Amino acid sequence: MRRRRPVATPNWNWTERAACRGADLLLFFGRPGERIDERQAREARATAICGRCPVQQTCLQGAFERNEGAGVWGGLGEDERRSRRRAWQRRTSYERRADTAETEPVTAKWCPACTETKPAGDFPKDRRQSDGLNRYCKPCTNEANREVRARQRQQKEAVA
Ligand code: SF4
Ligand SMILES: [Zn+2]
Repeated sequence: MRRRRPVATPNWNWTERAACRGADLLLFFGRPGERIDERQAREARATAICGRCPVQQTCLQGAFERNEGAGVWGGLGEDERRSRRRAWQRRTSYERRADTAETEPVTAKWCPACTETKPAGDFPKDRRQSDGLNRYCKPCTNEANREVRARQRQQKEAVA
């Protein structure tokens, strides 16, 4: 029986369909000490292969995510990929913010004091909490505050 890979394991199955499969690695990564004009000529030959690659988008996306510095990936040489990655980062951080903004608002919450689940509106606002709401519901918070004030009054009376 085959076990499924854990989700976090990077999946490289797409490379089985890569147009560069079996190609000379030097064509994609260059040799040490390569001059800039040599690199540009080499990258042009490598990206021509990427141009007919069925998994180009997957390849490029992965290179952005891993921040690949060296080599040709997804049809882009090193310089172009670096500048395109900055735009990609701005785009994804914007999308991530939009995602969380949509999923963030809590509609109901459990109060550990009365052990009841109540609508979010039944909880006092608290900006220190990640969901922006107090841990305890309004009645329980009021109850706790009353107890605190009562204790303070008793302490003052005891001193007086
Ligand atoms: S896009 Fe280019 S580098 Fe990426 S798998 Fe395809 S041929 Fe290889
Ligand atoms: Zn409560």
